[in-house]
Amino acid sequence: MVRCYMPTKRLISRWADVLGSGFSMEMKMMLAPWTGKSLRYWIAVGMSVAIAPLALSALIGFVLLNTYVVDPFHDVSKRERIQVAPIQNLRVLVWDTLIPVDEFVDEGGAQRAAAYRAARARIENAFAELQESLAGEPALLMPVERALQDWTEADRLATELVSVERPPGDPSAAEMMERFHGRVAAASDRLGVAYNVVAEKMQADHDRATRAYMRSQELALLAGVLSALAVIAGVVLIGRVMAASVDRLVDGAAKVSEGERDHRIDIRVPPELRRVADEFNRMIKRIEESESALAELARRDGLTGLLNRRAFDEALSEMYARMDRTGEEGALLTIDVDHFKRVNDTYGHSAGDDVLRAFATLATSSLRPFDQVYRVGGEEFSVLLPGTSTIVAHDLAERLRKEMARHAIATEAGEVSVTISIGGAKATTGLEPGKLIEAADAALYRAKTTGRNRVVLIDEFGAYENPTENSGKTVDKEQAGG
Ligand code: GH3
Ligand code: MG
Ligand code: MG
Repeated sequence: MVRCYMPTKRLISRWADVLGSGFSMEMKMMLAPWTGKSLRYWIAVGMSVAIAPLALSALIGFVLLNTYVVDPFHDVSKRERIQVAPIQNLRVLVWDTLIPVDEFVDEGGAQRAAAYRAARARIENAFAELQESLAGEPALLMPVERALQDWTEADRLATELVSVERPPGDPSAAEMMERFHGRVAAASDRLGVAYNVVAEKMQADHDRATRAYMRSQELALLAGVLSALAVIAGVVLIGRVMAASVDRLVDGAAKVSEGERDHRIDIRVPPELRRVADEFNRMIKRIEESESALAELARRDGLTGLLNRRAFDEALSEMYARMDRTGEEGALLTIDVDHFKRVNDTYGHSAGDDVLRAFATLATSSLRPFDQVYRVGGEEFSVLLPGTSTIVAHDLAERLRKEMARHAIATEAGEVSVTISIGGAKATTGLEPGKLIEAADAALYRAKTTGRNRVVLIDEFGAYENPTENSGKTVDKEQAGG
């Protein structure tokens, strides 16, 4: 059993309702297109839902990393390469000009003046390149342009200093040297300002990139959690729906095997299990039909198609139950074919069978539609007449006897004329079923012993019979005990 948190449980039971039977008609109609979807469909949807947050986070993460992490870091390294390094390099170059100029002023030497001029050329180049790389960034360009102004002034002084050799201790040279030093320092300071601005920008870029990197990590974690939750929810929901349907299938099978043949399994989702339930229901219906066909067969006689002794016993009990309820009377007729052994002996057993079949057809057609004829023995038949008076029962028996006597029966061995004897008894609640059968048998015996082809009916007053054809009813006072 899956244990789950209460709200989840409520949600699931609501879905189970939705998917099961306890839901309003409009809701069912609305959900019909969804409940009809296959298990495969729902697993695909579930997996897509589970994977969606991860896929989305991967996409957003990619964009986020590229835009806010990789690009800023790229900017940082670019600034490092084309701004920071040239600025620092330029500062070193500017300071380095002090050495040839100082040495020239102190000791002279054409090679020192040439060294200065070479350094100056490099510095001018470096300034031009730096300005180019700072184009579009006025905050950086401005201190660099000021540094260039300072350098231009320093260069003017240095150029003048190295243009002519002066005697040691020349006061104007010392004064110019001092101003030259001042300008070089000022140019270097201005470049230092530019360096600080670049460094700040790089720090800001770096911080932004670090923050974005952390955001993308959080996003990936959130997506992972969402995906995991979606997977768990999907597994629980599909598991519940499957478990409910499988339980219904197992319960249904158990009920049917316990004998509840009219039980049907109602499963709607998933359609795969619904098909199993439908097939199961169809199978149960077929078993039910075969069973009732077999039961019917067990109650029928194979030769004549009439109901047999077993069915007769049941019907007799039912007739007594009905008489107990309503207080009405009924009757039982027992019919025996006269000298049937002779028919067999003369025409053969197969012709005898034809006679029995012909009798069954005749009895069924000449009695009332609701009177039931049973084959209770070899050539013995019974008719149960619930709610029928003795007089009516006698008339029915007479009609059947006459019909039988009148028609010759066509058999494979030729036409055979047979008669029947009928014994009948009045059924009352005071006379138990066994005694009723005995009374009818006694009446039949009397019909046989008094000449056959006759009807004898016994009630509380005695025996009604027709001693000769068309002689009407007489009451045997002796039999009535009078
Ligand atoms: P009664 O007038 O006294 O009844 O004489 P009966 O010859 O009819 O009486 P009996 O009981 O001596 O003979 C009944 C015969 O019915 C014996 C048996 O072979 C025959 N029989 C029983 N069942 C069948 C059957 O299914 N088919 C055929 N052909 N004969 C049957
Ligand atoms: Mg018999
Ligand atoms: Mg007989």
